[in-house]
Amino acid sequence: MNSITIIGGGIGGIVTAICFEKLNIPYVLYERAAVLKEVGAGIWLSPNALQVLEWIDPKLLQAVQSSGNAFDSIRVTNHNLRPISDSNQQFALQKYGYTTMAIHRGKLQKILYDYATKENIVLNKTLKKYESYRDYITITFTDKSTVKTRSLIGADGINSTLRKQLFPGSTLRYTGQTCWRGIANYDLDTSLTNVGCTLWGKKLQFGMSKLENGKVYWFAVRRSKMQQKDNLHTLKNTLTTLFSEFHPIVNTLIDNTPLEKIMRNDLFDLNLLERWHYQNICLIGDAAHSMTPDLGQGGAQAIEDAFYLSNFIHGIPKTEDAFDTFYTFRKPKVERLVKQSWNTSRMAITNRPLEILRNFILKYTPQKMMQQQMLTVYNIDTTIAHKNV
Ligand SMILES: Cc1cc2nc3c(=O)[nH]c(=O)nc-3n(C[C@H](O)[C@H](O)[C@H](O)COP(=O)(O)OP(=O)(O)OC[C@H]3O[C@@H](n4cnc5c(N)ncnc54)[C@H](O)[C@@H]3O)c2cc1C
Repeated sequence: MNSITIIGGGIGGIVTAICFEKLNIPYVLYERAAVLKEVGAGIWLSPNALQVLEWIDPKLLQAVQSSGNAFDSIRVTNHNLRPISDSNQQFALQKYGYTTMAIHRGKLQKILYDYATKENIVLNKTLKKYESYRDYITITFTDKSTVKTRSLIGADGINSTLRKQLFPGSTLRYTGQTCWRGIANYDLDTSLTNVGCTLWGKKLQFGMSKLENGKVYWFAVRRSKMQQKDNLHTLKNTLTTLFSEFHPIVNTLIDNTPLEKIMRNDLFDLNLLERWHYQNICLIGDAAHSMTPDLGQGGAQAIEDAFYLSNFIHGIPKTEDAFDTFYTFRKPKVERLVKQSWNTSRMAITNRPLEILRNFILKYTPQKMMQQQMLTVYNIDTTIAHKNV
């Protein structure tokens, strides 16, 4: 019988596995994908996520840092690249030794996977359902195989199968927005190479950041009904027409992106759950608290979950109690971010009168206040952390 089973080997699941290894907590992780390919676009990793990687092993942090690109500033501009707000990240560099960075998502996943001891990770296993008994849980996979476990952690993402069974009333909330992401073969001007930049205007949003030499990650957001399909023959044309009034760099990036490297997702978050756990089952990451991508915090919060959950499990004899402590501890920060992220998604794409008001407020928000807000997101409580065991 497994002691602790993790379902899902995305960012949250794999970092939980690595944290468990550091703390000698036995686990088995099951991931749906048969092979972990270097797919996906980019991801921004903020200092809270990087602190967890550093706690695991400074060499792991270094491997991630050397595969990505750090930001000197995080900038919001109008459609024409004129700054609305510009947050110099020197304060984060001074406090933590690093700032937010961008990295190819597939590369991050590979670095994390390579770091883990593969003997406890089983690929090509998709959870179908579970049955709870007094002291254990039986998991059934889609290939009809079963396994018994004492505790179960659901890290199976926004559409979590585990959550749907544990909390059948849980629902996703559509933002009314769809997002295209891509990686352009291009070198940004030096004035933009260390900037996490988002352009807001014309009821659209466009973000960009250098990933590595010759590669730029970008995302483009517009209002849309759900589940619209792209015509691949006209997609680039559609996007460049949509952003024709933006600064020319936007269409240069779209033009320099191979068509097969452009992906589209409708943007949802998860309506807040009353709890993330029940008895010896617990959800983490997007399965528990998916948020819109507007603060770039979904992945970072999944990584924070891994850090706190593993340390609570290590310190508290009964896993059920550790799940309860974990939820109580994490709820305030995570729910605040879910709400802030939702509000930012509304604010990023709005009508002209509200745009003017929004830009005015952002422009005159003092740097100190912005930094204070960022620190509440970037800070993690390392006092609960256990050392190597
Ligand atoms: C457009 C966009 C941009 C984003 N940008 C950022 C950003 O810049 N920074 C940031 O921090 N966050 C960002 N996010 C959020 C981030 O992607 C998620 O919050 C993060 O991936 C959540 O990690 P997770 O491990 O909980 O879930 P996932 O990464 O979704 O992983 C879930 C895993 O579970 C597996 N799985 C699913 N079902 C099963 C099953 N039944 N059985 C077994 N395995 C299963 C999947 O194959 C997958 O590997 C963005 C999100 C979007 C949509």
